[in-house]
Amino acid sequence: MEIQRETLEVDILVVGAGPAGLSFGYHLVNLINQSGGKVSMPEIMIIDKGSYAGAHALSGAVMNPKGIKELMPDFLDKGFPYEKEVGPDSLYYLTEKSSIKFPFLPKPFHNTGNYIISLNKVAGWMAEQVEAVGINIFPSTGGFELLIEDGAVAGVRTVDLGLDKEGHPKSNFEPGSYLKAKVTVLAEGVHGSLTKEAIEKLNLRDGKLPQNYLTGVKEVWEIPEGRLRDGEVIHTFGWPQPGEEYGGGFIYGMGGKMAAVGYAVGLSSPNPANDPHYKFQLFKMHPLVRRIFEGGTMLHYGAKTIPEGGYYAMPRLYHDGMLIIGDAAGFLDSQRLKGIHLAIKSGMLAAETVFEALGKNDFSAKTLRNMEDRFENSWAKEELFAVRNFHAGFDDGLFMGLVNSGVQMITGGRGLFDRAVTHPDYMHIMPLKEYIARKGEDDVRKALKFDNKYTFDKLTDVYHSGTKHEEEQPSHLVISDYDICNTKCAETFGNPCQHFCPAQVYEMVDDPDNPGKRKLQLTPSNCVHCKTCDIADPYQVIKWVTPEGGGGPNYTNM
Ligand code: SF4
Repeated sequence: MEIQRETLEVDILVVGAGPAGLSFGYHLVNLINQSGGKVSMPEIMIIDKGSYAGAHALSGAVMNPKGIKELMPDFLDKGFPYEKEVGPDSLYYLTEKSSIKFPFLPKPFHNTGNYIISLNKVAGWMAEQVEAVGINIFPSTGGFELLIEDGAVAGVRTVDLGLDKEGHPKSNFEPGSYLKAKVTVLAEGVHGSLTKEAIEKLNLRDGKLPQNYLTGVKEVWEIPEGRLRDGEVIHTFGWPQPGEEYGGGFIYGMGGKMAAVGYAVGLSSPNPANDPHYKFQLFKMHPLVRRIFEGGTMLHYGAKTIPEGGYYAMPRLYHDGMLIIGDAAGFLDSQRLKGIHLAIKSGMLAAETVFEALGKNDFSAKTLRNMEDRFENSWAKEELFAVRNFHAGFDDGLFMGLVNSGVQMITGGRGLFDRAVTHPDYMHIMPLKEYIARKGEDDVRKALKFDNKYTFDKLTDVYHSGTKHEEEQPSHLVISDYDICNTKCAETFGNPCQHFCPAQVYEMVDDPDNPGKRKLQLTPSNCVHCKTCDIADPYQVIKWVTPEGGGGPNYTNM
């Protein structure tokens, strides 16, 4: 059956109402208003797959205000919703039972002047500012595929609504629309599905290094009075991450009795049972964490991936009719694990580029490539270039990583090497038997039992993310070959998806049709849209596609 689709034409289409996409819209309107009529106001449309702007926005989150100050100098007068200014700031190295506090904080880890925020609140507030300057934001509207015409990006096709699990139209079927635009700005966040499509089809990674990721898992708690000072920031490294792996923990005092705790785990782990959610729960068992959170109440949960590859892993940022900004393009300071200020700056640079394109009425790569020149001449490039080798420096483990980062500090970011060859995360996973022979059973065994009072299983945590999806729709986790999952992957790797997914979407269950065998079973409605599976699956047979708009987490206070 050929589906008739409506076509809607706008001048500029932005996919994603996070800090990058919203900054783009806000700055572009300002530039046009200041142009004294030289450039007329285009029609700008921002779409977002979440049920409201900010529903899918999650971050640590300590925010460097450099970006928002530049975008909106009166941001505080406009009611910028921060929780607290950062107060006491400390860094600990953890062993299983003890902790060593760094006597002083290395300069890059200073957080003085930064804000503890909830990113979903900040995104919601930014959306209000953007709507106030006249831009329409359409939540619950997911981009499903890129429209590419004559080699140029011409817009996106939105998700079909009202399909059953087999993909047949139900009585409420509404076909997705073609949204066509002179420029499409991809601001989808980490490992966006349209960005992935653009990178693959338009060869945007040619000559670049692969992106590498962490998966961060976070809970927000109400804790007993007096356990943490307002604005207090604690960062940790060491246990429970083994020395050869990458990651660490954080605790933020959000003010009063509210506190955030989280753990970020590198997906370049050799462990086929690498489980960011489990490591996070273990982290909470450490005495340093326990004495803050025990006796409190967990309120919210979320998970997201973090693009950690750095400057050399950023894709080409432009194509005919398209720009990529924010986390989607890897605008993240991998040393400080901060990206919100860079996402805002990337939105501003894109706005200046599109402003130029509107003036010339030229939306081809010839003009849009100036996005890269603007980036290269900005403080964002300076910041990212100074930490360009930070993540790669940890490829040989924690000790060499610390040595490397020390040398990077005195060599302007070069360190012991420059632009080391890196590999996609999934290529680091070792076959289960080899891994156990090297590390022992204990590294893959899940010894901690969750009590669902202080430590939580994945399903209980997912409940606290507010995640909802229409159950009767095609799976948005598309497995290209179940046979690989049920045979090769089960035998060789022990199905890592069961472990790395922080929302228990993937389970191996007894196969009633093949007694004695197990098969992969999916529960897509649990998905918190972190994209870990699309990144970390060793056979790359899992593809994350956008589900019906409005599905996914409904973050509050995250
Ligand atoms: Fe993340 Fe994939 Fe699990 Fe969804 S299914 S929560 S994207 S790992």
